Amino acid sequence: FVVILEGLNDSPLVATQIESIAVKIQEVLAKAYELTLATGSEGAGSRQHHCSASIGIALFGSQNLPSSELMKRADTAMYQAKAAGEGHHVYRGEDDTDFATRLQTVDELRTALTQDKLVVYYQPKIDLRTGEVRHVEALVRWEHPTRGLLYPDAFLDLVEEAGLMRGLTRVVLELALDQAVVWHADGRLLTIAVNLSASCLVDTDLPDEVIAMLADRNLPQGALRLEITEEFLMIDRNRARNVLTQLRSHGIQISIDDFGTGYSSLSYLRDLPIDELKLDRSFISPLTQDERTSALVASTIDLAHSLGLRMVAEGVESHLAYSKLARLGCDQAQGFWMSRPVPAAELDLWLGNRHPIDRQVDIAGERPTAASG
Ligand code: C2E
Ligand code: MG
Ligand code: MG
Repeated sequence: FVVILEGLNDSPLVATQIESIAVKIQEVLAKAYELTLATGSEGAGSRQHHCSASIGIALFGSQNLPSSELMKRADTAMYQAKAAGEGHHVYRGEDDTDFATRLQTVDELRTALTQDKLVVYYQPKIDLRTGEVRHVEALVRWEHPTRGLLYPDAFLDLVEEAGLMRGLTRVVLELALDQAVVWHADGRLLTIAVNLSASCLVDTDLPDEVIAMLADRNLPQGALRLEITEEFLMIDRNRARNVLTQLRSHGIQISIDDFGTGYSSLSYLRDLPIDELKLDRSFISPLTQDERTSALVASTIDLAHSLGLRMVAEGVESHLAYSKLARLGCDQAQGFWMSRPVPAAELDLWLGNRHPIDRQVDIAGERPTAASG
């Protein structure tokens, strides 16, 4: 929303005056409001909700600024307020140094989304019993025009902040499913896992769109898996359950990513339709030296199995960790020791060069060449 305040004078007090208006706006917005769900639906009845706002303030002052510049400054100040966790922020010239680059990056991201500058790398998950690879994870990369290949850490927060996650998720899904079609046509029956951010939960069209994307490509059930984090489940349990149930009824499996680092509430394991847990990599590196970690991992694997869930270990960086996980009965392993995430063509080479048999090969330390990911 944009608020225009007209007829203010040019006194030094004007900024204070405007700030007090911003505070009033915030107070009004902060009031709890009630939403009522119709009887008969799950969670029926009234509930209180709250809403917060970040306000960026920019002043024309006596300068003759074009309105586009004023809007840009207000936007910059708004990001500043958001980043600092403040309610409002008044634009200052020095904000521009950081925020001009951020705004430019957001512009470049918008372009990247429409001009095929996002690419997907694939990392294999190895079956620890048979050594086979039937699953890969799709991980987004950005081919930036001047900064080279960027990793998710460098841009995903900005994607969220700028409200572009919806677009990114669709692009990644399309790319990954197109690749699945190629692999399936070649007889490589790989399941591709795509990551969904927690914000995807509020995107009500997503489940139908995902189902349609699969149908358009004639992909079999089981070709797609979705990785979500615990945060996704905590935002709105009922909604999460509905979305997951809908996806699963179309053969899309659900995996909990970074398991063990988030809320790790046992109740969602009981209540929600999920298929797989991915144990966070922070448990994997100390696994071979630390007994407590080892005990924790062993019992988490047992817990998963007793609930009928598969357990995947992320961040396997050594042959020691790999063989220990195999001994503990973990189902699959993913990590740099086997392969970094690589473009599809490189994964094809890796799969082709790999000894088709089992983990004995990997355990013997014959690590297939892995390109940088
Ligand atoms: P994630 O889903 O937990 O993915 C695993 C991350 O661990 C990947 O980082 C992968 O490169 C890295 N990794 C794999 N094996 C090892 C290992 O042995 N050692 C170490 N140190 N790291 C390993 P990446 O590709 O940088 O992705 C980071 C995160 O960004 C992902 O974590 C995921 O949460 C998010 N992400 C990636 N692609 C997408 C996407 O398309 N959509 C959304 N919403 N999030 C994505
Ligand atoms: Mg993941
Ligand atoms: Mg993870």
